[in-house]
Amino acid sequence: ERIAQRLTVHAGRGARTADGKRIEVAANAASVEEVEKAFHDGAEGIGLFRTEMLFMDRSAPPTEDEQFAVYAATMRAAKGRPVIFRTLDIGGDKGVEYLGLPEEENPFLGYRAVRLYPAFQEMIDAQLRALLRASALGKAKIMIPMIASVTEVRAMRVWIDRIKEELGAAKVAFNPSTEIGIMVEIPSVAFVMDQLAPLVDFFSIGSNDLTQYFLAVDRGNPKVRGLYSSFTPSFLRLLKMITDGAHRHGRWVGMCGELGGKIPAAPLFLGLGLDEISLASPGIPAMKERISQFTAADGEAILAQTLACETPEDVEAMLAAAAGSRLAGKPLIDGNIIVLGSENSDKALVIRELVNALHADGRTTDPDEVEEAVWRREETFSTGIGFGVAIPHCKSAAVMSSSIAFLRPAKPFLWVEGDEDPVNMVILLTINDAAPGDEHLRIIAKLSRKLM
Ligand code: PEP
Ligand code: MG
Repeated sequence: ERIAQRLTVHAGRGARTADGKRIEVAANAASVEEVEKAFHDGAEGIGLFRTEMLFMDRSAPPTEDEQFAVYAATMRAAKGRPVIFRTLDIGGDKGVEYLGLPEEENPFLGYRAVRLYPAFQEMIDAQLRALLRASALGKAKIMIPMIASVTEVRAMRVWIDRIKEELGAAKVAFNPSTEIGIMVEIPSVAFVMDQLAPLVDFFSIGSNDLTQYFLAVDRGNPKVRGLYSSFTPSFLRLLKMITDGAHRHGRWVGMCGELGGKIPAAPLFLGLGLDEISLASPGIPAMKERISQFTAADGEAILAQTLACETPEDVEAMLAAAAGSRLAGKPLIDGNIIVLGSENSDKALVIRELVNALHADGRTTDPDEVEEAVWRREETFSTGIGFGVAIPHCKSAAVMSSSIAFLRPAKPFLWVEGDEDPVNMVILLTINDAAPGDEHLRIIAKLSRKLM
């Protein structure tokens, strides 16, 4: 709750880097309820509306009007903010019984998404009509999934133009310049950005499928989970090709796969120069906060370092260090890490409460590790020093900013069974592992002065 409270200031703001560069932080959604929640969480738009959810768990496809009701409600909730509707992405592993799709040996390499549109023309016509009608109500955009080639994009443009003509002839309202974009989730697209850019208005990277196809690792197969990582350096190089390609040819590019929801990856998004990222909405305030901690130039430098890494683990360690560097330099002690009248009167709970205070104040991103480090120290001998005082402490790489946290329990309690005096003052000293060797002396000096 305290972290959420700290982040609320970010929810209502547009995402900006520390040097003021804008990047749009949007949400992924699959229903009107999720769209409403997303805007409440601070989404600046909807970067991926997965329309296939409307087609699943039923016995026939939704009619044009049924779909329009959902798309129109979404546009009303968006109040002028952009919404990217992705056309139907089913088949492969996302089966829909009424379509009667055949069993396949390699469903992910088979008959799915845009590849099955020609066989279901009426159904796709109805979806495109419903989407174009919704475009009269705000900034609706249409995005085509699983594009592998220029040929498919050309075919979709012809298709959409035909629907527009039909709507025009029937005097149905729609926005004739509705933006049309494609998902970048098949690696072949990365190599023909120059040919695709003139045919589309935008690109959005689907990192889930793109990782799967690029690394040849089934995204749903637990046996190969260890090989599936969107932090693989070769994959990051592919992303750079895509973003550079889009920008060189004057198109904006976003990201809507799971990678877009990874908070530590924020500096990579800045380095890549993504125009938008779209993620599950609960992560939006934290993503905006992380973006605000880096300049665009920081992002470029961090991306360059990660592109030179050899393993995804190295990339993640580098990103963790980059995040940590932003949390360093807080004052040793301040009001946010002082707890008075705590209801906890148990050593384990008190230690956790203090570690949580450090976490909520942004002094560590890994409270579990800090807690464990405190307990490792506690095992050597008790830190209850008598006179009602306990001074648990640790030195850990998970502590980003050395701190003196303080807790006074409402009820004094025994630090260790058998102690004579109950503890009424707990002082947690946490020292950053990378701090100068005399850091602990600085802390003890400060603490002594405070205690006097
Ligand atoms: C993706 O592949 O990254 C993506 C966003 O689409 P989905 O996860 O729905 O396949
Ligand atoms: Mg996909």
